[in-house]
Amino acid sequence: MLTQEQELLEDVGKWQRKILNGYWIVVLISLVAESVALFIKMKLNPETVQHFLIYTMAIPTCVQVTLVSAIELMERYYRKSRPYTIILTGILIGAVLIYGNKTLIGMQYVMMIPMLVAAFHFTKRHLTFAFLMVISMLGTMYILFPLIWDHMTIYERFALFYILSGEYLILVQLLHRGNDMMERLIKTSRSERDLLIKNIIMERLSKTDALTDLYNHRTFQEYLDHTIEHCETNKMPLQIAVIDIDNFKSINDTYGHAVGDVILKRVADILQQSFTSDEIIARYGGEEFAIIFPAKTLEQAFDVCEHTRETICHLNHPEMEGRRVTVSIGLSGYVHGMGKSRFFSDADSLLYQAKKTGKNKTVYSS
Ligand code: GH3
Ligand code: MG
Ligand code: MG
Repeated sequence: MLTQEQELLEDVGKWQRKILNGYWIVVLISLVAESVALFIKMKLNPETVQHFLIYTMAIPTCVQVTLVSAIELMERYYRKSRPYTIILTGILIGAVLIYGNKTLIGMQYVMMIPMLVAAFHFTKRHLTFAFLMVISMLGTMYILFPLIWDHMTIYERFALFYILSGEYLILVQLLHRGNDMMERLIKTSRSERDLLIKNIIMERLSKTDALTDLYNHRTFQEYLDHTIEHCETNKMPLQIAVIDIDNFKSINDTYGHAVGDVILKRVADILQQSFTSDEIIARYGGEEFAIIFPAKTLEQAFDVCEHTRETICHLNHPEMEGRRVTVSIGLSGYVHGMGKSRFFSDADSLLYQAKKTGKNKTVYSS
């Protein structure tokens, strides 16, 4: 399962792909716009066509295509197009556009795009990097190609700087707000998840017995109601076994209550291991357990009960100087229409018979 942070990173990856597509669109749009300008020039100013074709169209477009292709390749083969590379590519594409259209008023505002791209990465670090690079790039171009600036008044240059700085400050605030919301969202979903886990734990605790980890009496009754209903409607076999540890009182009396608890837990573990997940095993009372067999015939249930009883009686318990413990079992089959209380009391009387006739045995009747 992905963590929220990993999902966020994957999301940034998806946006990176969209930004690359955006760069291709910018290159395409500028090529279309230049083609229109070329067409107009061919009509009005045919002598400037060649210069325009080479310096405004061919060279800038080649440089832009090379730049975007380079990060495309990095992305595809090395999966390494880092945010900084993407931001820098945006700035270079912008610089090439400004260079190709030196006298076009307002072209410098294309530098707003890489700053927006930086904001996609949700960090002030990337945004500040983009802003500083944009300012440095414009400054460098000012020195290298004064023609770009010559047609701008000092006020227009100031306005450009003012607007780019304004964009930076607004984006920083937007990022703060975005990050704040993201944190709240993560916090909310974390507390929702914690609550869900707590509910699952609470539900489990309310269904099970703390010492043995088996289902408790109440849950057993609920499952029994449910399985009887299922058995009645689907004419499925249903058996129930009541298991009682023999002479448990003397274990408590001889070795203490704590040892008694250890033995109870051990017997419960054996029961847990002996029955399949179809069977419902519960601690019915003190040293008494009950098993529901919803998918076994009486013979099959008898075999499992006997096997379990033998496993228990062959076990030596170091806490009781290696002595053994036995269990008696009453096993009863459900007869259509008999109802829950008769079904259970039948199993209970069979257990009583097992106790009366020497213990450590399974007594059954259908
Ligand atoms: P029988 O063979 O007829 O079943 O005799 P028994 O001694 O096992 O039956 P009895 O009903 O006389 O005694 C059951 C004892 O189980 C009495 C009670 O103190 C003890 N017991 C019940 N719950 C617990 C428990 O959680 N821990 C411990 N250690 N003992 C328990
Ligand atoms: Mg007992
Ligand atoms: Mg008992």
